[in-house]
Amino acid sequence: MAEEIESRVLLIMTGGTICMRQSPNGFVPARDFQEHCLAPMPAFNDKSPSIPIEVINDNAERTGHEVKEYTSLRTPQTAYGRKVRYTVYEFPELLDSSSIDAKGWTEIAETIERNYTHFDGFVVLHGTDSLAYTCSALSFMLQNLGKPVVLTGSQSPMLELQNDATENLLGSLVVAGHFMIPEVCLYFNNRLFRGNRCIKVAASDFAAFESPNYAPLAVTNSTRTNVNWEIVRRPRGIGAFGIRTDLDTRHVACLRIFPGIQPEMVDAVLRLEGLRGLVLETFGAGNAPHGQDNAMTKVLADAIGRGIVIVNVTQCLTGSVSPVYAPGMSLSRAGVVAGLDMTTEAALTKLAYLLAIPECTPESIAKDMAVSLRGELTEISQPVFRHPDGELSERAQTLTMLGYAIARGDLQRVDVIVKMEHHWLLNDADYSGNTPIHIASTSPSLEVLEYLLRQGGSVHLRNNQNRTPLFMAANAGMGEHVKLLRQSGAHLHSDERAAAEVLAQRRPEIWGEAGLHE
Ligand code: ASP
Repeated sequence: MAEEIESRVLLIMTGGTICMRQSPNGFVPARDFQEHCLAPMPAFNDKSPSIPIEVINDNAERTGHEVKEYTSLRTPQTAYGRKVRYTVYEFPELLDSSSIDAKGWTEIAETIERNYTHFDGFVVLHGTDSLAYTCSALSFMLQNLGKPVVLTGSQSPMLELQNDATENLLGSLVVAGHFMIPEVCLYFNNRLFRGNRCIKVAASDFAAFESPNYAPLAVTNSTRTNVNWEIVRRPRGIGAFGIRTDLDTRHVACLRIFPGIQPEMVDAVLRLEGLRGLVLETFGAGNAPHGQDNAMTKVLADAIGRGIVIVNVTQCLTGSVSPVYAPGMSLSRAGVVAGLDMTTEAALTKLAYLLAIPECTPESIAKDMAVSLRGELTEISQPVFRHPDGELSERAQTLTMLGYAIARGDLQRVDVIVKMEHHWLLNDADYSGNTPIHIASTSPSLEVLEYLLRQGGSVHLRNNQNRTPLFMAANAGMGEHVKLLRQSGAHLHSDERAAAEVLAQRRPEIWGEAGLHE
């Protein structure tokens, strides 16, 4: 019998309208969101007994970590047959997001890092004003992310009678608790976006965000949340989850070109003390006035010569910067980096992220600004090979074929099948809930497992028996497989630890290798 699988999600409350209440000075963030806003609502509380959940905090002196027990709540069963157990961790200081900066981003990233192995996904509650910046920043800060991180907020507080907070939070919980979308995402008004593609487009409409150059990763309608798996990004490569913090927002700036802008004005910004990077918002496909006698181009080229990285993004909502017109061409000849279809938010936070890397140089930053690190810009399109028709039965057949090839350790065959149907196959599951990575965790060929991991297969999905690939590899005594899975960020799920403890009595080494005692 398949066990009842409960997902665990950590809600990280940073502040914003979603938790606000009226005060004599206007709306201000209020504490105890779980107790006041969620516990009384049937959609967020199935009234089952509350189990305490451990959340790892910074201790008061910020010198180490402490484990604290939080009361949890559970949703009723969703359309996907799961219940989502969650708890709300509130930041010591709740913010209006217009005041967030690199310190706040670090705090979010560190909270996720400290609690990464204890939860299946994370929902970050945040004000909408700077939400697109935070999404972009986090997308760069979280490295080898293998679990969903969903940011959301609302235009109207949860305690207002008519609000968008309920829908936004419920939709985010469902995504973080059910779908292996290992990206930093933004869920708003029934749509899930790649976070670093978003901009805030409305100050009070419920449809507050758009992702003008990238389709939504998922859309919720009256019956389900439909994920567009073809465009979901997955970490490729062997590497455990980690974070980079302390983005350098102090030495970057953003300047919008307008008709009549004077080169002296641009020069004055470029001579700000300590400036290391500038995002230039230009016209159309990346054009700016070159100024009398090319004075503007000279100002920019001089600054680039002084080691400042200048990135060209368009003021238009859609489209990409490319040197098709003479003015754009001369910017690129002067050394201005084409930011392609990046949003200003993504370009600015990416610059701040790259500048914080100790070994960076202006050349390495310019190079990285023009390539996609987290799907934030569109490089050249990749060819996709498809079957002529994508029937569901054919999908099951392909997965079965792949399963046999993996079980035989036939790397060549695995490669052919994966190349045909890469976008959905890797995290799909067979009748017993096993994904290709589950099957590969006991395949005779370690290369097959490595190959599938490098294609972006998830190490965190659980089968119908509630087992991760790591558990299966350890149980089968496959030491090398266990090591490789661990290097790829795999860890035992809290629900499988009790079984692992029993099995470890007979084979302590391999279960130790699987991280049972960490
Ligand atoms: N000023 C609020 C904030 O960004 C707006 C919101 O949450 O929608 O925190």
